[in-house]
Amino acid sequence: MTATREAAAVLRLDDETRRALWARVADEVEGYLTGVADLPVRPGRDEDEMLRRLGEIDFARPLAPGDAVGFVADGLARWQMQCGHPRYFGLFNPPSSTMGIAADTLAAGFNLQVGAWHHSPLGVAIERRLVRELGARFGFQPDAVDGTFTSGGNEANHTAVIGALASTFPAFREGGVRALAGNPVLYVSAEAHHSFVKAARACGLGDRAVRHVPVDAALRMRPDALERMVRDDRAAGDLPFLAVATAGTTNAGVIDPLEAIADVAEREGLWFHVDAAWGGAAALVPELAPLLDGTSRADSLTFDAHKWLSVPMGAGLFLTRRLDALTAAFHLETAYVPRGEESLERPDYYVRSLQWSRRAIGLKVFLTLAVAGWDGYAATLRHQVAMGGLLREELRGSGWTVVNDTPLPIVCFTDGRASDEGDAADAQRLDAISAHVVESGRAWISTTRLTGIGSVLRACITSFETGPEDVRVLVAALEEGRGVVG
Ligand SMILES: *Cc1c(COP(=O)(O)O)cnc(C)c1O
Repeated sequence: MTATREAAAVLRLDDETRRALWARVADEVEGYLTGVADLPVRPGRDEDEMLRRLGEIDFARPLAPGDAVGFVADGLARWQMQCGHPRYFGLFNPPSSTMGIAADTLAAGFNLQVGAWHHSPLGVAIERRLVRELGARFGFQPDAVDGTFTSGGNEANHTAVIGALASTFPAFREGGVRALAGNPVLYVSAEAHHSFVKAARACGLGDRAVRHVPVDAALRMRPDALERMVRDDRAAGDLPFLAVATAGTTNAGVIDPLEAIADVAEREGLWFHVDAAWGGAAALVPELAPLLDGTSRADSLTFDAHKWLSVPMGAGLFLTRRLDALTAAFHLETAYVPRGEESLERPDYYVRSLQWSRRAIGLKVFLTLAVAGWDGYAATLRHQVAMGGLLREELRGSGWTVVNDTPLPIVCFTDGRASDEGDAADAQRLDAISAHVVESGRAWISTTRLTGIGSVLRACITSFETGPEDVRVLVAALEEGRGVVG
């Protein structure tokens, strides 16, 4: 072997080893997909054993490739929340679509760099195509929508805050927030996702710049309260610039009144952003799409394909119909990146996004959609909505009280038997019931707090493989928990 080949073989491995490795990885993934429903949903509690095994890996004594893969695959089957399990009723962490797994494998193998058109014309064109087509689902004109795939909803919302700042305040790009004549403030509902707080910190606005608008009894942002807060803040010398509506809250799947918030934003001259990270998937189901009426008026929108569209982790999307926004926020010139004819249809994403070098995030959406088709996707989403309906029915039938009002498959509920012990005791009981279900390993569920309502149990139909029997097992486990907790 030449010295070069010998050195490279450390990373490339020899042909025979490589082929065996692919077969092993495929077997491990296939074994996981077909066997996950038999695993406990929650991670194993013996974390000391996990740390002991991890500690045994010694980088001074390299492993055989098969052993290294085996360590990870065996370990993940034991020490991980099994989000691929049909009875994971938790946050928005779905099982991966099979075409999404294939896409991520191809992305790693070909190592596409989609930061610039010249680097991966096909990779970038695929993402541009998805921006146009998904944009159209939200009511944007395909020729007049810009956008970029992001690591997730957090980065997409961060992008919205920067885009709105850069577009609203011409001095922002050069001088930052300290160049402005006052404090820029933004508005989210009391039930909005906390990524806006992070974005406010990262943009130098601070937590206090995030105004939490009260919600009504159905947990929807109150447009009248929004308008009053904007006027009061302006009278006090602050600079309102952004109103955020949530289309599918993380807590309860509630959709803010998009048209009414768009009206306020228009009257008050605010950027209107819709955070549809999870609920945006409703745009793919013809009978649910009207729930999202009003997104066409949004200046920008967040959508996460790694949530309800079930592609593997790391697939957010930021869309905007303000074609100068991303450029105002992120454009710059370098000597070291070859200059092309950068344009909306042949974008260089490194000058239109927070990221620079970037993995092909859109590929897993593209391949999943190419094989499922719009109708296939709609059918899986519709099934999950039906399972949400079944869960509501079964819970009511067993004397639980459903407290949230949404057609989307998130159910927030309390023990219908009223207690006179006060909020703290009620919250403790619900936590104990949830802990009982989780410890049993049969299902995973959580509790949360809803504004004005208090503590609730929360179950989301997160998996496209959840069936009626899984729903019934969850309700049985809850019943048992209720019995044990008393
Ligand atoms: C999950 C979520 C986010 C954050 O998205 P990540 O993909 O986790 O970064 C933002 N907004 C809403 C409404 C969400 O549900």
